[in-house]
Amino acid sequence: MGDRAHDNESHEYHAVPTIRRMSTESHRQAWQDMIARQLLGRGIRDKRVLDVMRTVPRHVFVPAHMRAKSYDDAPLAIGEGQTISQPYMVALMSEMLELKGSERVLEVGTGSGYQAAILGLLAREVVSIERHESLARKAQATLKLLGIMNVEVRVDDGTLGAPDRAPFDGIIVTAGGPHVPDSLVDQLAVGGRLICPVGPREGQRIVRVRRTEQGIIEEEGIRCAFVPLIGEEGW
Ligand code: SAM
Repeated sequence: MGDRAHDNESHEYHAVPTIRRMSTESHRQAWQDMIARQLLGRGIRDKRVLDVMRTVPRHVFVPAHMRAKSYDDAPLAIGEGQTISQPYMVALMSEMLELKGSERVLEVGTGSGYQAAILGLLAREVVSIERHESLARKAQATLKLLGIMNVEVRVDDGTLGAPDRAPFDGIIVTAGGPHVPDSLVDQLAVGGRLICPVGPREGQRIVRVRRTEQGIIEEEGIRCAFVPLIGEEGW
C-alpha cells in the first residue's frame, strides 16, 4: 500500500467519525466562504487541513455574543485578554506541521481550543497547554462537546513543554515569543517540526524549526501578530 492511500485511510478514520455534529445552518455560507477565500484563495493546499477545517465548527469555540463573526478573516476576543487566531493562521501553521495522522503533537496556547481540535483530527494525540485556567477549562469542555477525546488540556507554563510526554513529532506555539523556547526544541523528535511566532511584541514572523539527524534547521515564514507568549522562556 502506498503512503498516499494509507494517509487517506487514517484521515477518514480520525476526521469523520470522532466529531459530533453541531447545528451549522446559520453559519454555512460564511464557513464555505472562509474555506474558499481565506484558505484556498491564499494558497492553503494540504487536503487534510482543508477537510478538517471544513469539519470543525469554529463558531462553537467563539463566545456567544461574537458568534456572528465566527468565520470572519480575523482573530476574535475569547476572554482574559486572549484571542482565537485568524482562520488563515490556523490553517497555515497546521499545514507547516506536515501532519499525516500518526503523530504526537504539543500545542502551547490552548486559548479557545479551536486549534487543538484541528490538531486532534490531524494527528494521533495532542497535549495542549494553557496558562489561564478559565480558558483551559472551557476549551476542554468544548472539545468534549464535539467528542474529540485525543486532546489533553493542561494548565501550565507551556514554554517549558511537557517533558513527561516528549518527544513530539510536531510542536506549535500559538503566542508570540522573543525566541523559540529551548525546552521546546529539546522536546522535538528527530524528523519533527516546531512552528512558533518569533519577534517583538508588536509583530513577529512564523518560524519553523526542524530537527534532523544532522542537527537543527530553522526557516523564517510570513509576518504575523500574536498575543504574547508569557513564561519562563517567553516574555
Ligand atoms: N490556539 C488558540 C485557539 O485556537 O483559540 C489561540 C491562542 S491565543 C492566540 C494564545 C494563547 O496562548 C492565550 O490563550 C494565552 O493565554 C496562551 N499563552 C501565552 N503564554 C503561554 C504559556 N507560556 N503557556 C501556555 N499558554 C500560554
